[in-house]
Amino acid sequence: MKKLYETDSYLRECDTLVVSCTPGKSGFCLELEENLFFPEEGGQYADTGRLIPLGKEGQPEGDPVYVLDGKLQKDGRILYHTETALPAGTRVHCILDWEKRFSRMQQHTGEHILTGRIHSVYGYSNVGFHLSDEGLVTLDLSGPLTVEQAMEMEVAANRVVWENLPVQVLFPSREELESLPYRSKKEIEGQVRLIAIGEKASYRDLCACCAPHTARTGEVGSIRILSVQNYKGGTRLGILCGLRALEHGQREWKRFTDLAKSLSTGVEDVADSVAGLQQDLMKEKGRVAVLQEQGLLRDFRDIPEGEPAILFTEGPLAPVALKNSFNTMAGRAEGYVGIFQGSDENGYTYTIGSTRLDTRPLGLLMKEELGARGGGSREMVTGRTSAPRKEIEAFWRRAAMGGTLAQI
Ligand SMILES: [Zn+2]
Repeated sequence: MKKLYETDSYLRECDTLVVSCTPGKSGFCLELEENLFFPEEGGQYADTGRLIPLGKEGQPEGDPVYVLDGKLQKDGRILYHTETALPAGTRVHCILDWEKRFSRMQQHTGEHILTGRIHSVYGYSNVGFHLSDEGLVTLDLSGPLTVEQAMEMEVAANRVVWENLPVQVLFPSREELESLPYRSKKEIEGQVRLIAIGEKASYRDLCACCAPHTARTGEVGSIRILSVQNYKGGTRLGILCGLRALEHGQREWKRFTDLAKSLSTGVEDVADSVAGLQQDLMKEKGRVAVLQEQGLLRDFRDIPEGEPAILFTEGPLAPVALKNSFNTMAGRAEGYVGIFQGSDENGYTYTIGSTRLDTRPLGLLMKEELGARGGGSREMVTGRTSAPRKEIEAFWRRAAMGGTLAQI
């Protein structure tokens, strides 16, 4: 068995032999003599592609079989997941999904370059790496990094890209390895595979890694840090490289220009425009609160003598409007007052109170008779009930006015 991807990350096609094929949980597990497809390992997903069965003369024969996944087994074998079977002994022509592979090579080499720069300046290690195909590629650093520091490292990493340095795969002997200052996530048994960035006399980074990489740093295109988060005492960076970084930039540009257009302003003025809108909104909210308060107090004055001192409003009321009008109402009324926000359909949230009477017994009765939920103090009780308005008004006449509670 040969791992072709280890030594030639640009090999896109090859002929080989099916060694074994056994039914798996779903589909089949296929073993190949020579492995063009990288299996899932070290934070990177497995390659996908297809196998074309070959006839005796080497001509294509039959339908292609798709390689959906690949896993390195504990015994060192690589098993590929396919939907259909291919008998052991079949010669096949392997074709790699190159676009996907190359994008992953850009992300992975970019990650090595960036982590290498951060390691050389801050001494941090990469303690977690996830090369996802959707969203951002994440890398976890063992120490804290501010946004400004991350931006400096982003520039430093891109300088390495612009220098277009060689990226080499090394298989050093144990003795050679001892003299090399390489980064590694874990102790490795057996042959160590190193990815070296830069010229031999002055490597910019040396890191143990099993994945395919670009041949030169320039192929990474660009490295963008797009999120910086505190994570488990260290830092989680979200990055994108190459085509994915470019596409992300294009999406951002589109979103930003659309936003500017909707605000009838230039891209440079979006932040000022939004700040202006926020100020307008605050003023408008203040104006609405005053109107609500005035409306509530007018309604309160209009309640005829002998009717419950309660108001119903669809709301939602501005908190300051509720507070001010409630306090004014409670100060003027002899007994209890109440403000109910909502509707029969959605239920009501209420604020009830009195400056003279203890409000808590009324609150308890509301729980018993109106199935209300809530609580509060002597002066004020708040809560929620799904009882309809008519029932609330009837309860209020019965309990809060002329009833036992009113005489407490
Ligand atoms: Zn790696």
